[in-house]
Amino acid sequence: MYNPKSLKAEDFINHEEILETLEYAEKNKNNVEVIDKILEKAKELKGLSHREASVLLACEIPEKINEVYKLAEQIKKDFYGNRIVIFAPLYLSNYCVNGCVYCPYHHQNKHIARKKLTQEEVKAEVIALQDMGHKRLAIEAGEDPVNNPIEYILECIKTIYSIQHKNGAIRRVNVNIAATTVENYKKLKDAGIGTYILFQETYHKESYEKLHPTGPKHNYAYHTEAMDRAMEGGIDDVGLGVLFGLEMYKYEFAGLLMHAEHLEAVHGVGPHTISVPRVKRADDIDPNAFDNGISDEIFEKIAACIRVAVPYTGMIISTRENQEVREKMLHLGVSQISGASRTSVGGYTEKERPHDTEQFDVSDQRTLDDVVKWLMDFGYIPSFCTACYREGRTGDRFMALCKSKQIQNCCHPNALMTLKEFLEDYASPETKQVGEKLIEKEIENIGKDKVKQIVRERLKKIEQGDRDFRF
Ligand code: SAM
Repeated sequence: MYNPKSLKAEDFINHEEILETLEYAEKNKNNVEVIDKILEKAKELKGLSHREASVLLACEIPEKINEVYKLAEQIKKDFYGNRIVIFAPLYLSNYCVNGCVYCPYHHQNKHIARKKLTQEEVKAEVIALQDMGHKRLAIEAGEDPVNNPIEYILECIKTIYSIQHKNGAIRRVNVNIAATTVENYKKLKDAGIGTYILFQETYHKESYEKLHPTGPKHNYAYHTEAMDRAMEGGIDDVGLGVLFGLEMYKYEFAGLLMHAEHLEAVHGVGPHTISVPRVKRADDIDPNAFDNGISDEIFEKIAACIRVAVPYTGMIISTRENQEVREKMLHLGVSQISGASRTSVGGYTEKERPHDTEQFDVSDQRTLDDVVKWLMDFGYIPSFCTACYREGRTGDRFMALCKSKQIQNCCHPNALMTLKEFLEDYASPETKQVGEKLIEKEIENIGKDKVKQIVRERLKKIEQGDRDFRF
């Protein structure tokens, strides 16, 4: 039976409840009265239930869809301002014992080159990432208890945090590894990770089992209940995601929001982020082999509906998507993007983009400098800020600040100061020029005069060589 407070996967992601939700959404998709009521509630910026949001996703009335899009953009501005947080993935190892049918790292793939970084190689990759200007990473690895045990992941995290090359530093390591035990989550917490990210892939149990025919990931309940174990282990920032294209998007959307509601109901804090990857071409993977691929238009609609349904949750879009799609998604509420990503193990130290160990084709292949300038051309502030978790603003503390819109008092100045660091250390002359102008303009948008003055002083100090200021 559906119960968001239950710790059993099949109770909080309840199949019957999803089917009823889809039926309710289908029945009301053109019911203007119901839709207007939902939109009114969304405007209160307190979020929507999975049922309400599913009606918006199903809605086919162009004016109403437009209203959702406008609201999504407004909500993003209200809670997150115009900053966009930047990160890069770092692939540690593509050894994997699972049989995920959409992923080229699956165990049966005998011709893909298998690689696991040594600590020396991790160091070289991190230096390459620092030299681009990155401060925040998401580490990625296949599931393999022999080749990639938790000790290996912990050792890599330690190495990553220890490297200081020129003015570079990785200040936040998010972790995207397979579902694991409470004990291991505790170890990750103690290693000082930022967010623990785990994509559900699909919330549809029957499909999940078919898409993960072999290996530990086959266990739907163990995977679906992973975030509860992570929270039990002390990690209070967790990142959800669905791999769109595997199952019917409306089903996934309802499941995703039910998962968010479950975390809120049990732990008092919803997901820190939601990622929206789509299946991409890769080594022996043809995305057309999956029946549920979605158009760019539907993809945008999903993003906008997520934004209005969970206004306080960060939304992430990766370089799986091309520049054009990413541009549209920024307007619909995305708050974090990756830049200059390489999805192969050891890819950042290669001069040419390698493809032999790649997890998926990267559509947006621009440099970080290009991405930063592109964001600024649209008036966004590229942010390399990592302050929140380092200042203990995680879990419910972060959410409380976010809900009261106070988080901007930190985010906005921190974004400007970290952008300044990027401009000083890594930017091309053109990007630097655009950035300096943007910072000058954005300082005026800092609410408090005292903060404004401190930021001005710190920007001067950054010019003189000081680094890592934060509120
Ligand atoms: N192995 C880890 C796990 O079991 O969750 C996660 C790391 S994996 C490198 C990160 C994510 O990449 C997966 O969760 C999956 O959603 C996504 N992915 C796998 N194959 C993909 C493909 N062909 N196109 C796009 N994304 C893919």
